[in-house]
Amino acid sequence: MENTRAITLYKNNDPRIITEARSVCEQHNGKEVLLRGLIEFSNYCAFNCSYCGIRHGNSRINRYRLGPEEILNAVRAGFERGLRTFVLQSGEDPYFTDNIMENLIYNIRKIIGDKAAITLSLGVRSRKSYMRLKKAGADRYLLRFETADPKLHVMLRDGMPLDRRLEAITDLQDTGFETGSGFMIGLPGEKPSAGRDNALLAQRLNLDMVGIGPFIAHPETPLAGTSSPSIEDAVRLTALVRLLLPLAHIPATTAAGTLSPTGREKMIQAGANVLMPNITPVKAKKDYLLYPGKICLDESGLECIGCLSTRMMGAGRCLSFSIGSAKRLQKKKGRDRGYTDTKCS
Ligand code: SAH
Ligand code: SF4
Repeated sequence: MENTRAITLYKNNDPRIITEARSVCEQHNGKEVLLRGLIEFSNYCAFNCSYCGIRHGNSRINRYRLGPEEILNAVRAGFERGLRTFVLQSGEDPYFTDNIMENLIYNIRKIIGDKAAITLSLGVRSRKSYMRLKKAGADRYLLRFETADPKLHVMLRDGMPLDRRLEAITDLQDTGFETGSGFMIGLPGEKPSAGRDNALLAQRLNLDMVGIGPFIAHPETPLAGTSSPSIEDAVRLTALVRLLLPLAHIPATTAAGTLSPTGREKMIQAGANVLMPNITPVKAKKDYLLYPGKICLDESGLECIGCLSTRMMGAGRCLSFSIGSAKRLQKKKGRDRGYTDTKCS
């Protein structure tokens, strides 16, 4: 679809954007919703983003780092349950040097072989560091640009210019990572055109994955007390991103599920095709609060898979346990055969 039509539907608040995005998503993904197991392995962060609950300046949280065995056990259990992508996410934690990460990646690879993918989300690192992590065996990297507005970016992200974040995204792409990025919507101070601007930047970056998270204010941050966008805004924007990037993997984000109990289902109906059960050990999960009210803190992520399956059946979808590589690589790698837990008709 041409950009102009998609943007017009979006601007006019035209409900057809949802049905059109859903149909584009189904053309490429059928009824299947891919799973990615998320492991939040450290909430230490040297950075101070104004929106984030684990920012360096928040002294009122319990900091933790998972040990290698805890991480490997989470991977092992997830792999046995059928998960075929593991996302390792943390704050910008200098403890996890390239050496430590390389060892971790080697050890994860011993468990999953070539049957599953390793995704990292560790923030901005040097090009050299990305090269080492890729060479060690990581497949994918998630680094949201957060906002396409350069002034807002520098203000909210501890003085880091948007260009530096974009340079890191280019480094990841050059290094050969399947690269995901994305943004928050509803950030205090964003322009009325923010949704469209963010979606167009995502398109320009030619991303393999795009995450859209509604902003939710954390009480221990400078943005405490500011309001969140409506779930409808986040859903319409998901639809716009699907129309602009028909092949991208788009998660129905936990932030959307936190903002509204059926937020993730609504995103799926508007073109999202990925869910990320949180398989972080339960004792650590509650301390990885980027924003308050995060869902599923008391269940293990593996228990969540049953719940997600029921939710997706209600939405006319089913969970897929395929590795779910970037669409541009699927034919080349030929390892995208997985299984789907219910027949999707
Ligand atoms: N440190 C890494 C990864 C962890 S943060 C990084 O910054 O890239 C993961 C994502 O959480 C961020 O990219 C941001 O988009 C999201 N996030 C942080 N605070 C949030 C908030 N208050 N509301 C919604 N999403 C938030
Ligand atoms: Fe750190 Fe990422 Fe949070 Fe920024 S968003 S404070 S880099 S964890």
